[in-house]
Formats: sequence, structure tokens, C-alpha cells
Amino acid sequence: MTYELVRGGVYLIDAEYHGRHGVLGTYLVKGEMSMVIDTGPTASIPGVLQDLRRIGVGRDQLILVGATHIHLDHSGGSWRVLELYPKSQLHVHPRGAPHMVEPSKLEAAARQFFGDSVDEYGEIRGVDEKRIRPSSDGEELDLDGTTVKVVWTPGHASHHQCYYLSMDRVLILGDAGGLYSAKSGAILPTTPPPFNPDKAVESLDKLIALEPEIVCYGHFGYADRGVERLRSYKDQILLWSRIAERSVDEGLSIDEARELLIQEDPMLRKFGEITRRRENSIATNLLGFMEYFKWLKGEDKRRADH
Ligand SMILES: [Zn+2]
Repeated sequence: MTYELVRGGVYLIDAEYHGRHGVLGTYLVKGEMSMVIDTGPTASIPGVLQDLRRIGVGRDQLILVGATHIHLDHSGGSWRVLELYPKSQLHVHPRGAPHMVEPSKLEAAARQFFGDSVDEYGEIRGVDEKRIRPSSDGEELDLDGTTVKVVWTPGHASHHQCYYLSMDRVLILGDAGGLYSAKSGAILPTTPPPFNPDKAVESLDKLIALEPEIVCYGHFGYADRGVERLRSYKDQILLWSRIAERSVDEGLSIDEARELLIQEDPMLRKFGEITRRRENSIATNLLGFMEYFKWLKGEDKRRADH
């Protein structure tokens, strides 16, 4: 079985990202009418569809395909789900919507970052503009009885948003709450460039104010004590910000800054052994902070996003 019930009508479906379990989660909000959030890339869609059918979502019952953000790992397969569920609309932040219609820039950016492994996502195709329903901050989506609140949460990306079921106090985070390891309980920032730590902290404050009990991570799984976990992630973002800013001021290299971070952030050790691969991932996420502070200090003029 690759899905499980989280609470109320919320299900976690394992999108089996690149054929691996426990890496990327698709969420389903099931009521009379249903909404799927973060379909995963196109390569994940056959498995996700199978689970939607097993859970009992009829062809005309899926009315919304939500994207916490438009990055291809989370939402690259949206076009295919829209094709198969004719009544559904794509619910996406207005800043992200044009890239879902015309995904060439998105693909180019992903290729620059990940190289040819982007091919493993499967086909990348644009969505018909008429099928897009642009989101607004604070709006409430009605799934015929079940209400889902939309919260804009820039930081990881300027077009990031979360979904909250206030009745069940379940919050679907996308990448706004970091990467969660159910095994160790540790959280690692998901903050590659272009990341905005100041906006991420503001977004976390908005999420904490909702007082969620259950938080659902894009990578991977869900956990109780939602507020506590969001507060702890906010503290971690603030710690990484201080270290990144100091590193930029002192002209440290990314490797030197990463070493400093590994000494100062106990959460990184909680994750377990810091392998070469983990070091690389820490460096990529730290770079998001360092580029931000370079931009803030006028050392990086290329960036126009903030
Ligand atoms: Zn992302």
C-alpha cells in the first residue's frame, strides 16, 4: 500500500519519486468533491492515479489540482491529472501560473540545476490557460462541505502556498516547513537559491498563528505537534541566516561556511551521519541563504526576484 489516511479526509500518497519510497508526498483532500495537492512529476502520475482510484475518487469528483509551488518535482505532472479528470482546475499562485502554461523557463531552470536527471521527471507539458484558477491569499476553497484555506507562504519560492484544513487542524506544507525525517524527527532546510529567509520567517509566523496540530511535509510524511515543529524550523532558519550573513561578511567560502554550520546546528547531527551526499545537500541549501545576503549587501546584482 502506498497511501495512508492522515486525519479527516486527508490522505498521504507516496509519489514514489524516481521510484523511491518516502521521498515525495502527494496529498488528497477527499470529500463529496476532492482536491489533490502536489501531483509529483509526470513519471509519478500512474502510481498516484492508481491510489486515487483505490481510495475511491471518481472521474468527476476531483475538482482541484493544487500546487504548493510549481517546481517540477512537486507539480510537473499536473497537466496529466487535469487531462484525466475533466472537471478539475489547477489551483496555483498567480506568479507561478504563467510557467504552468508555458513551462520552458521552468524546465531550463531545472536543467541548469539538476542537469539531465530532469529527464527522469517524465514529459513536461503546458496546461491550458482556461483550466487555471489563480489563488489568492486567505481564500477558502469549498469542496462541497470541506473547506481548505489557502495561505501564501513565500520563501522557498516567491510563488509558494500552503493549504490548511481548520476543521481537522491539518496543514499541508509543501516545502515551507523543511525536509522532515520521520526516522530521526530531524528537519533540514529546503532552501536552494533563490531563497528568501526573511520572507520564509514571515511565512512561518503566518503558519504558526493557524495553530495546526498535524503538519504534512512534501518531503516526507506527516507529524503531530505542528506548532512546535514550525517554531523549531523558524529558529533553524534564523540560525542559518546568522551563520550565512557572518560568512558573507567574513568572505568565507561555501565549504568553510558549511563546516561552521555543521558545528553550530545540532539538528544536522540529529539526522545521523553527515555523508558526502548530505554535505552537498547542506551546501546547496546554505547557498540559498548566502546568495540572499550577498544580494542584500549589493554584492550580487543579478538577482531581481526580491
Ligand atoms: Zn521546491
